[in-house]
Amino acid sequence: MTYPLPPTLCFLDLDNVLADFAWAAYERFVPGQHPPYADQIWEMWRACGVDESGFWRDMDEEFWHNLPRTHEFDAIVDHVTKLFGVTNVFIVSSPCRTHGCITGKASWVEYHLPQFSRRVIFTNRKEILAGPGRLLIDDHDSNIEKWEAMGGCGLLVPRPWNKSKETRRDVTDIILPALNFLFEIRPPSPSPSSPYQTQLEQRHGKIDWSSPATETPAELLASDDPSPIPQEG
Ligand SMILES: [Mg+2]
Repeated sequence: MTYPLPPTLCFLDLDNVLADFAWAAYERFVPGQHPPYADQIWEMWRACGVDESGFWRDMDEEFWHNLPRTHEFDAIVDHVTKLFGVTNVFIVSSPCRTHGCITGKASWVEYHLPQFSRRVIFTNRKEILAGPGRLLIDDHDSNIEKWEAMGGCGLLVPRPWNKSKETRRDVTDIILPALNFLFEIRPPSPSPSSPYQTQLEQRHGKIDWSSPATETPAELLASDDPSPIPQEG
């Protein structure tokens, strides 16, 4: 799979990408005794010692509104805003069934990310938004797999409950270089008169279209030597 052109729209997952849902959930059920990295799983209720319905039941509007930011919040938001432009960044989140979840998440975005507050999408089928030129940044394996199956480009945020568990742990060491990589991809057969290329050059400055892409984002993520983040001139 190759990505011949940089994506133009970015869809950011909320929980465990920007909002630290895992920390808050563990703090609610096992305060101060969060499971170690190796024991953290997607089905968090098991690590919390409750059943699934009990896990979600008391997560009301206040809970969702009060989620802390992740450690990587600033780095991810700053980077995607710079690369995509603020109006091309969307928040996409799958709500649970608990009353107050959607309103709590929406108010969280209004408070922490007012610049994106009119581009928030709630759905448990994120893949319906996927397609060429559309990037999803998410921490759930199946969300990324479905997104890419629909022709989109996905970046899996490394968390202990997904495929990245045995490889990388530092989010910014993966996501930021991968984003830079996506924006450095060159089409193998450039057509200099393409309106799309003109649009990209208007956004990013003069681009050298002669250098073909050789790696996919997945290969980049598996690499032990991620591309360095270019320094601002
Ligand atoms: Mg998530």
